[in-house]
Amino acid sequence: RAKELGGGRVEVFAPHMHADVVRRLELGSDLQRALAEEQFAVEFQPVVDLATSRVTGVEALLRWWRDGESVPPEEFIGPAEESGLMIPLGDWVLREACREVARWRRDSWDVGLSVNFTARQIGAPRFVESVAAALAETGLPPQALTLEVREEVLVEDAGQNVERLSALRDLGVRLAIDDFGTGYASLAYLGQLPVDIIKIDPSFVAGLGSDETLTLLTRTIVRLGRDLGLTVVAEGIERPEQLELLREMDCPRGQGFLVARPMAAGRVESLVRTNLTAQGRPGEVPLPLP
Ligand code: C2E
Ligand code: MG
Ligand code: MG
Ligand code: MG
Repeated sequence: RAKELGGGRVEVFAPHMHADVVRRLELGSDLQRALAEEQFAVEFQPVVDLATSRVTGVEALLRWWRDGESVPPEEFIGPAEESGLMIPLGDWVLREACREVARWRRDSWDVGLSVNFTARQIGAPRFVESVAAALAETGLPPQALTLEVREEVLVEDAGQNVERLSALRDLGVRLAIDDFGTGYASLAYLGQLPVDIIKIDPSFVAGLGSDETLTLLTRTIVRLGRDLGLTVVAEGIERPEQLELLREMDCPRGQGFLVARPMAAGRVESLVRTNLTAQGRPGEVPLPLP
């Protein structure tokens, strides 16, 4: 087909691939403008202690408001990386989020922060220094920050990544494996990696109570985490029966639309202030369970 079209010229792109490349280039320049025009925002999704309802931390999630419409991160993070923009953008997210959470902590709310990082962000020059600088400049203690990375960041050509993440961990920063169970991290790796937290992928949680295998796998991951001394967070909790089963499994932490959606900083504040803990401190999200 390529030959017919090009008369001997080699046609490397199928038409749909070409359209995709053009779209990505356009997205790249849109992104440049978006950063200049401050179209990005950070939202925060509460993570709770499933036994007590207390909000133990928030996960920072990047939002792009393009012409009043929110573009999903999955659509723009790839292009942002390819255009080199993800490094300044990621640095901006980290600083915004650290600044907000440091402010909450000064208001005597004992809350942690998780921020997502891609392999390319971790591989960027001066990555360790830039995280340390964000902490120093915002006053967030390293112990309050968790870096979330997907499994492949740690196991695929991971030499330098692991070194860099270990350097931050030596400062007190915690490390979480995001989307655990979907990637390459074999169980054998777990004991060797500098990891503190595993976040069970929503695809397991989705099957809780309805799919026997997924329920068994979730139970196994929760137990494995506990036995290895790791904190386990179940992600994507949407239905009460999932929450109920996770509690019954003694899964320590959870996150999902049923518990709380990602929201602007101001909304997190009002949520935890209207729901004080038994000790009268801010920081509880009442779980929709008896
Ligand atoms: P993630 O780190 O696994 O984040 C969790 C995603 O699940 C978020 O999607 C969140 O809105 C969504 N979520 C939370 N609870 C539920 C639920 O109960 N049901 C369903 N269906 N979804 C739920 P979001 O915000 O669209 O982000 C998607 C991914 O984009 C993130 O997955 C993360 O990998 C990436 N991302 C987001 N913000 C950043 C960022 O600042 N930097 C980097 N490097 N990646 C980011
Ligand atoms: Mg995450
Ligand atoms: Mg995740
Ligand atoms: Mg994910």
